[in-house]
Amino acid sequence: MREWRTALAPKLVLAAGDRNEAARSVDVTWRCLENRRGRVLVHCSTSGRRKWNLAEGGRSTGRRRIPDPSGLLSSNKMKKRVVGQSERTRCNSCDRSVPSYDIVNVTSQEHGGRALCSECYNKEVAALDDLSTFEHVRFEPVMLADCTGATHEFHFRTRLFGPGVAIDAFELINNHPAGYEFEIIGDPEGDLLELLSRLIEKIRRGLSTKHLIDHDLGRQIADHQIVRGDIGWDEAEGGSVPLLTIDGQGITWREFGRMLMSFEGWQFKLEIKDKSEEL
Ligand SMILES: [Zn+2]
Repeated sequence: MREWRTALAPKLVLAAGDRNEAARSVDVTWRCLENRRGRVLVHCSTSGRRKWNLAEGGRSTGRRRIPDPSGLLSSNKMKKRVVGQSERTRCNSCDRSVPSYDIVNVTSQEHGGRALCSECYNKEVAALDDLSTFEHVRFEPVMLADCTGATHEFHFRTRLFGPGVAIDAFELINNHPAGYEFEIIGDPEGDLLELLSRLIEKIRRGLSTKHLIDHDLGRQIADHQIVRGDIGWDEAEGGSVPLLTIDGQGITWREFGRMLMSFEGWQFKLEIKDKSEEL
């Protein structure tokens, strides 16, 4: 595991509402790490008591490493920390009010903490990384049917992270990303529409199989005995065990364990992959 020293400010201003706390300044320590899957992570900790993975700097492809550490720091973990925030947030750059899921919290030495919409955030990252040909595109939601004929509305979010550009597709429940979620990563100087069409094909493949079936004894694993899903944070369990998303539905660790018990005595293979990879 590689590690970088950072030049980020040793003080961090926590916004009001962030983890339900009032605005205040705290002393923090920053660490940049490359994990086993080649993702660059930025860790922030306060006197050993708290630790957050604030930024996911994307892959270290060899072409570039993490963007200038004194530059932008983004948070992709807003979903866990937006409790109490309104469903729309005003961008501190263009002043537009956008859905909160479209906001990236950014801290830089020059501007301090700011909430930026995806478009403004991408513009700043493109300028920092000399990506003069990158053009942000706002994609409209699309409706796609799963293998049972049920339709799902997918919204899109585009994030530039230096060596790549990620497009996320997600459903909304109570105005928050939930249900089915997919991601694709491409060349930031490539064609975003072509990347979107590859993402839609990936969504279609994801919707073409159901992994769980309804049964008289409760929900069970389907006969093909393969389960694909996402590993999420279970607020009710304080994050001690995951909340899985399978077939676009939240499944508690306990419920999944109950389903596995119908295979007592069998063996299994667990394979973990990055969100952008094909399962
Ligand atoms: Zn903006």
